[in-house]
Amino acid sequence: MTKDQLRRRLEFYQDLGFKTLYRRASIERASPPDPRSPVPVLSLPTLEPASDSLLQILADIGNCTRCRLHEGRSKIVFGSGNEQSRLVFVGEGPGADEDQQGLPFVGRAGQLLTQMIDNTALKEGIPIKRPDVYICNVVKCRPPENRTPQPDEMEICGQFLYRQIQAIKPKAICALGGTAAKALLGAKVSVTALRGKWHKWRDIPVMVTYHPSYLLRPYNQNAKKEAWEDLKKVLHYVYD
Ligand code: SF4
Repeated sequence: MTKDQLRRRLEFYQDLGFKTLYRRASIERASPPDPRSPVPVLSLPTLEPASDSLLQILADIGNCTRCRLHEGRSKIVFGSGNEQSRLVFVGEGPGADEDQQGLPFVGRAGQLLTQMIDNTALKEGIPIKRPDVYICNVVKCRPPENRTPQPDEMEICGQFLYRQIQAIKPKAICALGGTAAKALLGAKVSVTALRGKWHKWRDIPVMVTYHPSYLLRPYNQNAKKEAWEDLKKVLHYVYD
């Protein structure tokens, strides 16, 4: 295992919530360890499937009861769109409409997101529409009363989000709102401070912008303009 592979493997375990790993005391060696070896030899169980796919992730989720959010859900909202998309949008979690239909961003906020993608692409001469991108959420089940997902729920369900992104391997990610930004960047700073600039999740560029439900509030007209600017940046970066 190379140093880079080891780093990725450890990051994967961290994503799953493992904070500590122990070396087995009794690893038998045929010969003494090579002092020139860049990393110690670790024997880790395989958790990350070698060739992951969205179908496999969906099968692994199954009728999930891994966190308390399963208690109130009608349908698991896995994700929708082009599974080979070069652009992935990540939101927070399903609302009432999404919970009923089993699809992400189909309520009022979803309609605004569709307008934002379709209209910005049209104005900028980029030949894509919403079905050409992939859209999913940090948590796959609706939180009660649309509350913000709690850290343990994000940590448990986040493993599926990370696998989705790894399976799609997009050129860029657009994080919609603070929960998506926190899940991808671990950032505790506000969306206002993060938006408009490029960040990274692993090696993939991430643009943070406002969640469409925030933009629906009438007093957020400035934020709307800023979100449109962010989206322009993302679309040009991915599709130019
Ligand atoms: S939110 Fe995610 S982890 Fe929790 S029950 Fe739903 S699918 Fe499972």
